[in-house]
Amino acid sequence: MLWKKETKNYDSMYVDIFALNGGEASLEKAIRNLQCHEKESVLAKNDTQSFQKRQAGNEYFSQGKWVHAITLYNESLLFAENSSKNISLAYANRSACFLKLKKYNECLVDIELAKEARYPSELMPKLDRRKEDCLKQMKNDVPSKLETKMTFEPHKHFPWMANVLKIDRDADGGLAIFATEDIDVGENIMAEKSFMCFLYRHYGSKCNICLKSLVNLMPCEKCTIVMFCSECKDNPLHPYECGLKSCIRSQTNGQIMRLVRSCLLGIDHFSSADELMNFAEQSIKGDLHEIPTTSLDAKWKYEAFLKLPIDNNNGVNDDVAVIVFKVYKMLLNITKIGSMFQSVKRRRFLMHLILQHYHILELNSAIGTYLPKMDHTENNCYCTQTELYSQYFRHSCAPNVLKVYVHDMFMITTIRPIKKGAKLLKSIYIEDFLSAPKATRQKNLWQGRKIFCTCERCISNKMATSAQRRRMTLDPDYLYIVDYDESIRIDKFMPTAIDKCKSFLQKYGEIRFCKELGVIVEVYQLFMNTLSTNQHLLH
Ligand SMILES: [Zn+2]
Ligand SMILES: [Zn+2]
Ligand SMILES: [Zn+2]
Repeated sequence: MLWKKETKNYDSMYVDIFALNGGEASLEKAIRNLQCHEKESVLAKNDTQSFQKRQAGNEYFSQGKWVHAITLYNESLLFAENSSKNISLAYANRSACFLKLKKYNECLVDIELAKEARYPSELMPKLDRRKEDCLKQMKNDVPSKLETKMTFEPHKHFPWMANVLKIDRDADGGLAIFATEDIDVGENIMAEKSFMCFLYRHYGSKCNICLKSLVNLMPCEKCTIVMFCSECKDNPLHPYECGLKSCIRSQTNGQIMRLVRSCLLGIDHFSSADELMNFAEQSIKGDLHEIPTTSLDAKWKYEAFLKLPIDNNNGVNDDVAVIVFKVYKMLLNITKIGSMFQSVKRRRFLMHLILQHYHILELNSAIGTYLPKMDHTENNCYCTQTELYSQYFRHSCAPNVLKVYVHDMFMITTIRPIKKGAKLLKSIYIEDFLSAPKATRQKNLWQGRKIFCTCERCISNKMATSAQRRRMTLDPDYLYIVDYDESIRIDKFMPTAIDKCKSFLQKYGEIRFCKELGVIVEVYQLFMNTLSTNQHLLH
């Protein structure tokens, strides 16, 4: 049904998706069943709630759980009424957590934010002492940080990838990324910003736009949901989303709201519906495997988004129709968009555009499920991000690169030496996958992604010899990582273990992929992800 027109005529209208799914009246009814039943007060600023959140934060602080305390102070900021003293108190308490975490710059910024928000003068000496402490500690202490920059100059046309790569056609006609020079192990060769991120819940944990955590987040002045980091505070799309809440079930609410955000992001590039219509039609009908020539233009990014692969086999079932209908209604309620899409023809197009976005997000979003376990909230999936270029990496159970999430960026690091001209291969799954035998891997790939893997590890008979494998298992780096000495704290162990993984892969990366390499790559990814999402600070 997607992109189907009423007749074969080229200027014919798209079919009415809603009429084909029971009609608007029955969809309206289905939406009412989804509707938010939370009381208005939950969404309104409320000093009592703000105070309670700060108290809860203080409780965590006294237990030495700095990250948990920060999340609660953030929630306290979200609920604080405008110009209430709860704002300055939350910033001040948060600055104490940053100091404990050795995040000195963040500590200093929070102290200033507290002062700007009229921190009570009788408490000021305490804050001044903290500032002095912070400046003193800063001089003697350099905290370790994960290197998230590319280790090469950026590519001229694709600044998100290193200048030692190129996008080209693969033997099967699809696109792939190739090395144009020999590349060593442990190089960061790609750092792409997600096309879009979305935070499902736990609103005090991250910037709503870029997912940064443990930075100086500031609340939206109007709602109790959105916090911004300093780089995102002027985000032009949030005013349209602010205060919209569509469903009491946060999973469905997230599906709806991320769809709204992606549509806003797309529509924002165009001044008229017709211009967008032409653009979208050309993007979708054009060659999906065309070699892109540039990515500097924001419209190009949107084109790449529209060309992402989708799974349209299931058509539009009732649940999908309800979500698309809800988003359609929400978007048309926005004055600017309502006036862009006035005619029936344009509105029919909008239905299909939303449906296309729905399918794209379903298939191309990575969902983060990690969260600090908190007493007062559910532990559930909480954010999603959409990448544009992941489709260029081919799957292999013998990957030569690894993907790590760093806030709204995803970073690609080499895990085996790559020869000039070689294709970059990434494994869809890592954890418990790369060290698993062929039958298990193939079963996972088929069940999860309907992939029948024909990578060199799955079809070739050439394997690592038992002598090579024995040499690996006796290597001191291997033993250090595998026989983790639990008397060493995990946050101290990790940085050394990461270096050892790297040096191990440098030594043995040329050997055909086998269980031992899989074990090390699994650990490498786990620790890199842990460091980049600050999870090590939770202990
Ligand atoms: Zn941000
Ligand atoms: Zn807001
Ligand atoms: Zn395979």
